[in-house]
Amino acid sequence: MVDKEGGSVCPHCKKVISTANFDLHAVHCKRNLEKCQRCGEMVARVRAAEHFDEFHALVPCTLCQAKIEVSDLARHNLNQCPKRETICPYCEFSMPAEDSVEHEYFCGSRTDLCVYCNKYITNRERLGHDVMVHGFEYDKEVKTSGDGSSSAEPVEVSSQSRGPGQRSGNHLRKLWVTAALGAAVFLVSAYFGRRPTARGAS
Ligand SMILES: [Zn+2]
Ligand SMILES: [Zn+2]
Ligand SMILES: [Zn+2]
Ligand SMILES: [Zn+2]
Ligand SMILES: [Zn+2]
Repeated sequence: MVDKEGGSVCPHCKKVISTANFDLHAVHCKRNLEKCQRCGEMVARVRAAEHFDEFHALVPCTLCQAKIEVSDLARHNLNQCPKRETICPYCEFSMPAEDSVEHEYFCGSRTDLCVYCNKYITNRERLGHDVMVHGFEYDKEVKTSGDGSSSAEPVEVSSQSRGPGQRSGNHLRKLWVTAALGAAVFLVSAYFGRRPTARGAS
């Protein structure tokens, strides 16, 4: 029976084949194609080994050395490799993903003096604090205009940045962050008695 697309489903590869080609296809398909047990793709029997090498061979990740299927390598590099580079949202330092949870926990717990209300605010609360309490956004110069109003017009939020009014001081800010982070790391390692961070190693 011919369906409305003018074809029928091949019982071997489950594709819809036009009626005119069906008989020829069915013979050819059964004789020459096989289903890849790994990905379900229909592959020419003579190319099965080649297909396996191309998509399913295990290759070592250049960063963590784990053996990864070729076709999974991009996903592994992007969001699974424990050694992939991640950026701390608080201090913008880059580090391997396996260190980022611990780092961001402590980095987010560091406090900075809020120059607008003179309170110490953790990095984790900083964005919400600036927006909710002071009504401005990061990367925004806060100007006290003639009427003394400190309310700033809304601008787009950049979660990459921290600290208000630093638009032009990026380099200086980086230096400052380096010093602050150095101190934080020292405190953290002192606190933990310099225990080795061997999690996920080997
Ligand atoms: Zn077929
Ligand atoms: Zn396959
Ligand atoms: Zn890896
Ligand atoms: Zn950080
Ligand atoms: Zn404040």
